[in-house]
Amino acid sequence: MKSVIIIGGGIIGLCSAYYLAKEGVTVTIIDKSDMADGCSYGNAGMIVPSHIIPMAQPGVIHQGIKWMFNAKSPFYIKPALSLDLLSWLIQFYKNSNQDHVNKSMVPLRNLSFFSKELYREFAQSANEFGYQEKGLLMLYNSEKMGEEELKTGKVAEELGIEVDFLNQQEVKELEKNIAVNALGAVHYKSDAHLSPNHFIAFLKSELNRMGVKLISNCSLVDFKVSEGKIAELLTNQGNFKADEFVIAAGSWSVEVAKKLGVKLHILPGKGYSFNVENLIVKPTIPTILCEGKVAVTPIGETVRFGGTMEITNNNDTKINIKRLQGIVEKVNQFYPDIKVNLPEKEKVWHGFRPCTPTGLPIIEKSKRIKNLTIATGHAMMGLSLAPASGKLVSELLMGKKTSIDITEFRSC
Ligand SMILES: Cc1cc2nc3c(=O)[nH]c(=O)nc-3n(C[C@H](O)[C@H](O)[C@H](O)COP(=O)(O)OP(=O)(O)OC[C@H]3O[C@@H](n4cnc5c(N)ncnc54)[C@H](O)[C@@H]3O)c2cc1C
Repeated sequence: MKSVIIIGGGIIGLCSAYYLAKEGVTVTIIDKSDMADGCSYGNAGMIVPSHIIPMAQPGVIHQGIKWMFNAKSPFYIKPALSLDLLSWLIQFYKNSNQDHVNKSMVPLRNLSFFSKELYREFAQSANEFGYQEKGLLMLYNSEKMGEEELKTGKVAEELGIEVDFLNQQEVKELEKNIAVNALGAVHYKSDAHLSPNHFIAFLKSELNRMGVKLISNCSLVDFKVSEGKIAELLTNQGNFKADEFVIAAGSWSVEVAKKLGVKLHILPGKGYSFNVENLIVKPTIPTILCEGKVAVTPIGETVRFGGTMEITNNNDTKINIKRLQGIVEKVNQFYPDIKVNLPEKEKVWHGFRPCTPTGLPIIEKSKRIKNLTIATGHAMMGLSLAPASGKLVSELLMGKKTSIDITEFRSC
């Protein structure tokens, strides 16, 4: 029986393990953390076929520079004398054009819809994680933002995504329970959401049932390579052997791959979230407050607010209060009925999105190491794209034809 070790037990590693175990493979996941609170847990839980335009797009650099000078803005690049940062920025600059967007949209859409289909399958077997298909509201309160959102919505519509364009009154009719201070919204009816923490708990119990070994607090130290193949993993909990290996280590994938001489361009995009319980009135549909890029997700009785993208390093765990204030202010502007207070630092979760300079994930067999597969770089869509990515990893490892074309999902 084929054996596989997956390095990284975030949502990408867990979904890869799930589909590999279904193929009858013996799977072990090692993770350096206690697998309880990483990027895959506190995220906004949105499943977003609406997100067809990659982060690298025309205008993004101009907007990014403007935001760099506003301490409360949703975007920041932490300056550093680092070759990794420099080469990432050069690649990002090269990809931020319309040609790149044009060739990325269809592959992204296909990956997203494939993933949503797989989420539906999970939910049909046991919806223990609050999966709901209520769509996603992109709320805006300025004419300029409205124009941009409408343009994006029209492009999505042309690609077969179901979209409603709502004026102020129509937004009010949809979100009846709470006053919404917005000029209008684009409602992507294709989108869905769930509770990430509950979905991960569900996946872990499925994996346990299927005999997958999950080893937490187990950090990769090095690899033993022989004849172009990984022969052994050296970890703080001893050495492990397997036929095949998967790197799914999120924003740490760069340092893991580097030990094998494999170069990946990924930087962590730090973001925050916090939960507010017991609101008397609350939004019912997952929403992005466009001017602040703030995500609002109703999860059971809780509402989760999240945002900011700080391109930084994996050691930068500091909570930036000014940026958090930016999130809180936007929430209070858009929802005058609720008064959200700045949360205490201890109540704020942070996570590192693994960001590639193309804005596309990497799902590929390594060209350098024969028994290595890489699945990472999902940035702000890792939850959304995880089941499809996991299934594709299993197809690659089993030598099957992949369910969708993955040519664009390669490292650069
Ligand atoms: C504020 C915020 C909101 C978000 N909202 C959404 C959303 O609504 N929808 C969506 O689709 N996505 C969202 N995301 C993005 C999503 O959370 C990520 O894309 C996703 O969690 C990445 O998963 P991953 O498995 O690749 O990485 P991770 O979850 O980071 O997992 C990688 C794992 O690898 C382990 N690891 C690293 N190095 C080693 C090593 N040397 N040895 C062993 N183990 C190692 C780590 O401990 C970690 O557990 C959001 C992110 C943030 C920050």
